[in-house]
Amino acid sequence: MAGRIAQNILEDILSRVDIAELISGYIPLKRSGRNFKALCPFHHEKTASFTVSPDRQIYHCFGCAKGGNAFSFLMEYERMEFQEAVELLARKCGVTIPETSKEDAKTASLSTQLYKINELANAFYMQNLNSSEGQTAKNYLIKRNIKEETLKLFRLGFALDKWDASINYLRAKNISLSLLEKAGLVLSKEGGGYYDRFRNRIIFPIFDVNSRTLGFGARVLPTLIQAKPDASIAKYVNSPETPIYTKGRHLYGLNLAKEAIRENDFV
Ligand SMILES: [Zn+2]
Repeated sequence: MAGRIAQNILEDILSRVDIAELISGYIPLKRSGRNFKALCPFHHEKTASFTVSPDRQIYHCFGCAKGGNAFSFLMEYERMEFQEAVELLARKCGVTIPETSKEDAKTASLSTQLYKINELANAFYMQNLNSSEGQTAKNYLIKRNIKEETLKLFRLGFALDKWDASINYLRAKNISLSLLEKAGLVLSKEGGGYYDRFRNRIIFPIFDVNSRTLGFGARVLPTLIQAKPDASIAKYVNSPETPIYTKGRHLYGLNLAKEAIRENDFV
């Protein structure tokens, strides 16, 4: 079996697995509205804070913050490797994993670097949301009844109102400008040099089924549109297509975040 399993196969498996059914095979689940609740299997507790969402096909514990999809549940609960969890669920739901040739080593290492860069950028955006400069964005989210837990669960962040905040942050982590451009985080200026693609926006990371950060969706602050009603400011700016992000295929995390937040009358 090759080391990597194609994205569409992983998505196919997840679309056929019912996470509530899977988890209820291990621990008793109690229905609670649209979700299920249980005593968390990952930490000791007396009141149930472990939640399974059939709508989102994820689980999350508000006590110990463990959470994820069907693959991560098996990895966590059964102490399986990712590959094992995928193979087990594939067998369970009748999906055949094709034997694929090893991905070109160079492409694989570029992808690995891009995932890492996005991870770093996401951490920076999250940090910004909790800084004084992110206060307006955070207040806005809180005013829309987005809970702190939801912000953390979907790793929401804020891009500072600067042309080079993420460039400086990521350059200081020894990431080259050419990689930042490949990751879609920066744009090149006509006269030379680069600037941040995302500025003064709320950041929604886009995840794949393995919780890797593929790219970002960025929403303008409504206060900005109110302040400049005549300026044509795009409501959303998204990452461009990159070696790890194909539009229309990878909207997993973005959809999750939007769905969760729509429940709170946002987006
Ligand atoms: Zn827990």
